[in-house]
Amino acid sequence: MSKIVVVGANHAGTCAINTITGFNEGDEVVVFDQNSNISFLGCGMALWIGGQISKPDGLFYSDKQKLESQGAKVNMNSKVEKVDFEKKVVCATLEDGKKVEESYDKLILATGSLPIVPAIPGRDLENVQMVKLFQNAKEVIDKLKNPDIKTIAVVGAGYIGVELAEAFERHNKKVILVDIAKTALSSYYDEEFSQLMDKNLSDHGIQLAFGETVKEIKGNGKVESIVTDKNEYQCDMVILAIGFKPNTELGKEYLETMPNGAYIVDDTQATSMKDVYAIGDCATVRFNATGEKSYIALATNAVRSGIIAAYNACGKKLESIGVQGSNAIAIYDLKMVSTGICEQKAKQLGMDVLCTSFEDLQKATFIETTNPKVKIKIVYNAKTRVIVGAQMASTYDMSMGIHMFSLAIQEKVTIDKLKLLDIFFLPHFNQPYNYITMAALSAK
Ligand SMILES: Cc1cc2nc3c(=O)[nH]c(=O)nc-3n(C[C@H](O)[C@H](O)[C@H](O)COP(=O)(O)OP(=O)(O)OC[C@H]3O[C@@H](n4cnc5c(N)ncnc54)[C@H](O)[C@@H]3O)c2cc1C
Repeated sequence: MSKIVVVGANHAGTCAINTITGFNEGDEVVVFDQNSNISFLGCGMALWIGGQISKPDGLFYSDKQKLESQGAKVNMNSKVEKVDFEKKVVCATLEDGKKVEESYDKLILATGSLPIVPAIPGRDLENVQMVKLFQNAKEVIDKLKNPDIKTIAVVGAGYIGVELAEAFERHNKKVILVDIAKTALSSYYDEEFSQLMDKNLSDHGIQLAFGETVKEIKGNGKVESIVTDKNEYQCDMVILAIGFKPNTELGKEYLETMPNGAYIVDDTQATSMKDVYAIGDCATVRFNATGEKSYIALATNAVRSGIIAAYNACGKKLESIGVQGSNAIAIYDLKMVSTGICEQKAKQLGMDVLCTSFEDLQKATFIETTNPKVKIKIVYNAKTRVIVGAQMASTYDMSMGIHMFSLAIQEKVTIDKLKLLDIFFLPHFNQPYNYITMAALSAK
């Protein structure tokens, strides 16, 4: 039996706590979180802001009471200020201002990530908003009720920025989406896919300011305009959604980190310091598309890493099988899913890759109900022919198909193996010569 201290109880921390208490082997679990709530599903934030769900209650799946009923001791509104890794003690300030020291046998760092705030003039003006916490979302929703907020500039056209652009447009706000890249979603999709999203956004009246770098936010006390290297746009609110950085303040001087600051962990989530584990957005993952350690901040990775650290902290060996960074986005009717690496990114990393693409109707041509087209692209290693990435787009919900590619990347399946894969045919669902088979068969 050991005493395990968990710092941070959002998705990664909560999952680790659930796993440890689930073993029910008498390990003592003490938790600190500086926030007043835990388990907020940021993935539902845009749906809530956009009014597609009426209330946020379902965006939480755990709380202090639930975790305590499982046997953990949970300190909310309690910031861990310092860790003495030599003495194995964490120093925290509790909700009532009291300073405490808590010793540990094993420490799990689950301190997550923080929004990246560009160092530009005007970033502190009123109505410059971040989007990470429940409190951030609530603030934005309250401000949307103000009729003076007519135009919103969203900076960053990654999946969060794009989702929020849709949410604001649903409130009939004028939306300007700004990004330094030439397209939306440039980290996860090749241009022929991103352009589908760009068209989708502009067809819904969202103004795209791509290929522009934000230099300044102007205003007298509150936001009045945003200045890029090419233009100035009048606006009443600015959303900064340019990405997240690992929150590794507590251990950055003691534990090994990646250049972006994420704690480097092995396949058991162990850091470079004995008995200290790191999970979720503050830690690295092993990215199977490249075989390298990488930083991929996703709730899915947070949950899996929480399970792994919990096992190992409790003396039960469990190793990560790596991740593919599988992700999805649904904006208006357009659905896009991807896993592994896209061609453009692979080439930037110097990988020698080939691609095969196909586009076809989802279901048999004689079907008389809605039958949208699906576009697919598979990226594979030019020498080994092992699949390293896949992207799909359609107004049809083909999302489940991407999981097969995730497994293919994890298990190092070649594009040639995919050619004769047994894929069922039923006209209601797909075609006998379906787009997966056809894309594989067309591979050079
Ligand atoms: C708007 C939005 C949409 C998203 N959509 C998706 C999606 O669709 N799919 C997906 O997979 N992922 C999505 N993500 C990413 C996902 O939310 C994160 O990957 C996930 O929250 C990471 O969980 P975590 O527990 O590692 O870190 P965090 O969620 O950052 O939690 C860290 C916790 O640590 C606490 N903490 C930090 N420092 C201290 C300290 N010193 N003392 C005490 N407590 C501390 C914080 O209060 C916090 O509760 C989205 C994120 C956002 C913001």
